[in-house]
Amino acid sequence: MMTERIVQKAINGDLANRDELLELFGTPLFSRESALILSAGRMMSQEACQYSAEVHAQVGLNISPCPRNCKFCSFAARNNLFKEQWNLPVEEVLIKIKGFETDGANALYLMATAQYPFEKFLEMGREVKKTLNPETILIANIDDFSKKQALQLKDAGFFGIYHALRLGEGKDTTIAPRKRLETFRNAKAAGLVLGTCLEPVGPEHTVEELVEHTMVTREAEPAYSGAARRISIPGTELYRYGLVSEARMAHILAVVRLALGYSIPGNCTHEPNSIGAAGGANLFWAEAGPNPRDTDKETEGKRGMTVKDCRKIFLEAEWQVLEGPSKFFRK
Ligand code: SF4
Repeated sequence: MMTERIVQKAINGDLANRDELLELFGTPLFSRESALILSAGRMMSQEACQYSAEVHAQVGLNISPCPRNCKFCSFAARNNLFKEQWNLPVEEVLIKIKGFETDGANALYLMATAQYPFEKFLEMGREVKKTLNPETILIANIDDFSKKQALQLKDAGFFGIYHALRLGEGKDTTIAPRKRLETFRNAKAAGLVLGTCLEPVGPEHTVEELVEHTMVTREAEPAYSGAARRISIPGTELYRYGLVSEARMAHILAVVRLALGYSIPGNCTHEPNSIGAAGGANLFWAEAGPNPRDTDKETEGKRGMTVKDCRKIFLEAEWQVLEGPSKFFRK
């Protein structure tokens, strides 16, 4: 009864509080109440995005043993998976990103590790922007940055950023949580729209942690939030915890939707899967180039999906997919 009341409250457009989110995250999978949460998550996502899911696409620019040492990342120096620095040549970046635009991705992302020089990233952004259609939305996924750098990103043609206060931030990473939140604020002050997510979810995370981080994403007023699981990379310290199932992730991302309400249009999950889309995920990513969840140098044909793959999963879950530039980022 308690769960039903909270679900109804969310459907009515009233935001759930911490205790209510604890109850929703703690609901056993495959129970009647869990089915209610999934159904409400899907209905609310449909309404929040006017029934159009989106596929965004990201090109990784480099590989480097990264000194930020996030334990879940294949680039982290401590994980010893990539020992050499390597940059994707500019011609290849342009081919990959243009290919994603041609395939109909609704927004395009450039991702770089903390080792990638900021000026070089700006240059790459300008170069990429020149080759894209003027209305195509370009997003930066990089290290933390200052107010001044936020303005430079905006001037270089970036519409927004992907950034997250990750689960275990400051403990499983060497980055202070306040630094991540400062970057949220710097982006906002410069007019860069934020996309964020509850990530990377592992089996060891408590419902209390999920609630705290969900609240952070809601309070940031992003274009989208959502939930993504941590990919277990053999040889890394966190590997021993294993992987959260797609079924559990669907429950988590449905709760995130109930927490977000209707004013945040996007609810992402990664990696793309049908049960997540059935439970209210309306944003997937295609990927090319280096990828922090992959141990291969370039992810296409391995972990990385194509725009077509992502669209197919959405169609199987009875979603329509938006044609044209992202509406999430233009909310
Ligand atoms: S997640 Fe980003 S900052 Fe952390 S180790 Fe990987 S590349 Fe570096």
